[in-house]
Amino acid sequence: MNKTIEVRNPRTGKFDYVIIPPPPKLLSQQCHRLRRGQIAWEEIGIKGRIAVLQQWKQAILAERQNLTDALVNDTGRLSVSVLEIDSVINSIDRWCNLAPQLLQPTAKNTSIPFIALQQAAVPYTLVGVISPWNFPFFLSNIDTIPALLAGCAVIVKPSEITPRFVAPLMTATNTVPLLRDVLNFVEGGGETGATLIEAVDSICFTGSVKTGRMVGESAAKNFIPAFLELGGKDPAIVLESADLDLATSAILWGSVVNTGQSCLSIERIYVAEQIFAEFYHLLITKAHSLKLAYPTVEDGEIGPIITENQAAIIKEHLQDAIDKGATIHCGGKVEELGGGWWCRPTVITNVNHSMKIMTEETFGPIMPIMSFATIEEAINLANDSIYGLSGAIFSESIELALQIGMQIDVGGISINDAGLTSMIQEGEKNSFKFSGLGGSRMGAASLQRFLRKKAFLIKTNTNKDPWWFSEE
Ligand code: NAD
Repeated sequence: MNKTIEVRNPRTGKFDYVIIPPPPKLLSQQCHRLRRGQIAWEEIGIKGRIAVLQQWKQAILAERQNLTDALVNDTGRLSVSVLEIDSVINSIDRWCNLAPQLLQPTAKNTSIPFIALQQAAVPYTLVGVISPWNFPFFLSNIDTIPALLAGCAVIVKPSEITPRFVAPLMTATNTVPLLRDVLNFVEGGGETGATLIEAVDSICFTGSVKTGRMVGESAAKNFIPAFLELGGKDPAIVLESADLDLATSAILWGSVVNTGQSCLSIERIYVAEQIFAEFYHLLITKAHSLKLAYPTVEDGEIGPIITENQAAIIKEHLQDAIDKGATIHCGGKVEELGGGWWCRPTVITNVNHSMKIMTEETFGPIMPIMSFATIEEAINLANDSIYGLSGAIFSESIELALQIGMQIDVGGISINDAGLTSMIQEGEKNSFKFSGLGGSRMGAASLQRFLRKKAFLIKTNTNKDPWWFSEE
């Protein structure tokens, strides 16, 4: 018998949902079924696959209300859940437009005039996707869509903390005959994830550095590629020349959206000393204008902290900062309301890099601010992190922002904005340092991760090659 997993509701604190992970034998049978389905999936070609994905889009739209309700119960927030569904729908269309040209075989000359090259690509048969709880629907599908279009079968294991959306999504998927042969979402926790890695040909993992390391090690043992998208501690740098009204609005959104439970949240802010006081006073005023989405989900912008573990981490980081002399200007505590855990937007000054709030991933609506005297100091502070996901720079001069951005060890930088890599997926980027491993998940390169390159080298004349054994 497999152990059931009880699922907590982040608004009420009640365990009101249960999942039953498949036993390893059943998971293995499901993987075999998907592998069989992949043969026909590859054969129908890109036009056929696009037609099927468009049917899936319609099926998701038909399930939209059930999906929204499930995501609200999973995460306790409404507007971000709606945004997640919209993003997946848009992503299906974007990839359907892009994929045909990316999958064209190309013919090329080689350095030898009588040898031609045809470059082809072969999809991995079965791709595994393991996803986290902070954007459960979006992050279960971000890799799934390009992998399917590349011609792979896909098995997805979403987080056991937010699994309620899987039922309506499977209802949608099961109405699309060819797709249900190559796409499955399985419920389960870490054990199921670990078993799944043993059964796939390539793995896309989004989650913590700690689990990512285990996933990377298992993949290395099996000689399969692992694409790891892990944690972050994104910095924002605000130069003296920045538009402060714009910078404070962008940073507030970038830090606090989804209650700060985003890998690319702005988690530390460095402001030029000349504008430091003006900056944080304006940020405090704007932070005060945001309300908790309590008692009803429609009430305000700030949803509950989704997991109890995350609430404990936020509490710990706040306490550590207070003990070491930080000043809290607003928010600043984790409170229990109606059984859920909540935290209001929090602005903190008198912080430094001896504090967890400046060095470890907090994943809360927390905006700790330090001043800097020189640009070099700002760059050093931004780079003083094990993480290298993304960041933001606010400056009147785009040229100067680009120069600074080149010196910051992260893969994506928003200029005069924050968190743009979550909204715009065209820009190719890698995750630097401990924030990840593998090819770009964003941009056209994303689809290439699911293909193995195959080179056809074709002799085009009937002469004997000069490097063959001499027959005289
Ligand atoms: P987590 O690492 O605890 O879990 C992620 C997934 O891994 C879950 O589905 C979990 O069941 C599974 N898992 C756990 N143990 C496993 C094992 N041994 N083998 C295989 N799978 C296993 O992460 P989380 O708490 O769900 O997510 C939050 C983290 O994700 C944060 O660090 C956040 O920054 C990161 N994240 C990164 C990105 C990105 O794009 N870089 C996006 C979102 C979240």
